[in-house]
Amino acid sequence: MFRPSAIPYLLRCGGYESTPGSGYPAQRGTLMDAAFRDLIELRQGDTDGESDAYAELTPLDRQGVLWAVEQAEGLAQGHDIIADEDACTISIPGFERPGTMDAVIPEMAMTLDVKSGRKYDYEGQMAAYALGCMEDRGLDQWAVVVLYMDSEDATFYSFTRQQCVKLIRAAQLNYRSGRREINDFCKWCKRFNECPAVSTNVSSALQTDVLTLIEMRRDPSAISVFLRQMAIAKEIEKRIKADCKADGVEIPGYMQTKDAESVSVSPAALEPYINMIGLENLLPLLKDISGKDAEKLLKEAKVELTETEREALFKKTYRAGSIRPGRAKKS
Ligand code: SF4
Repeated sequence: MFRPSAIPYLLRCGGYESTPGSGYPAQRGTLMDAAFRDLIELRQGDTDGESDAYAELTPLDRQGVLWAVEQAEGLAQGHDIIADEDACTISIPGFERPGTMDAVIPEMAMTLDVKSGRKYDYEGQMAAYALGCMEDRGLDQWAVVVLYMDSEDATFYSFTRQQCVKLIRAAQLNYRSGRREINDFCKWCKRFNECPAVSTNVSSALQTDVLTLIEMRRDPSAISVFLRQMAIAKEIEKRIKADCKADGVEIPGYMQTKDAESVSVSPAALEPYINMIGLENLLPLLKDISGKDAEKLLKEAKVELTETEREALFKKTYRAGSIRPGRAKKS
């Protein structure tokens, strides 16, 4: 389906098909988006009560959402911010289904879009929203601000109708042609496992002879192609290992490490308690402190934390088990 959110990917490859997000990053993103909408509406007095989505977030994610809300309020300069999902849904020329924005500030001719995760190029998707808004309000210029809640960073776009139509048309042409081209988003594409472009690229990388590889070091464009091919090969390796791990397949010459969880606390977060026991001079020398040592320190400082304070202080890190060269351990 040709949707605004698919434009950034379709501009790179006409065969791209998004994989429905059901894992932790997708759920977290949906929750953070919902919390953003709720907080905007609550703080403006459009609704009352509390935000269930916000309550479900970790302290760190709440901080990201609050940052985005404050940015939105700053950009609005006292004007109304529309965050209601229905009111933020618009029809866009060239698209079968309407698109839903995260928030709109009509008086500033501006759309806001919040994102969790890494920064990417979302220009095509934002152009679609901008075109819908310009069409709806009879304007010729529209701004979109993407607020990255994890990195607390923003990207500003300013569009004319012409620019939007150009970007959307380019994506549409690619989509209709189905022309496939290896790109950085391949690993998220639903077609990855069966894609002929993936097979062709990987076999071409694997068949490159050593002399060509040595020669290649003098040609930056050839290096770029080769590195992209190798990134695809690495993705295949990752998938094969994950499948073997999930199915418990033993691979001769390889061992499997177990999933592990560790807890640590940053010295900066412990600063008030370190000061309480008079060890502030040590602070600059400390790296992350293990959960166990932090417990000892808190005991020494005679501090009892509430559950929420503990949640904010202790950082949990999960390390997924992996398959690596070595002899399989006998169980
Ligand atoms: S896996 Fe194939 S279809 Fe999907 S984005 Fe990559 S090249 Fe395009």
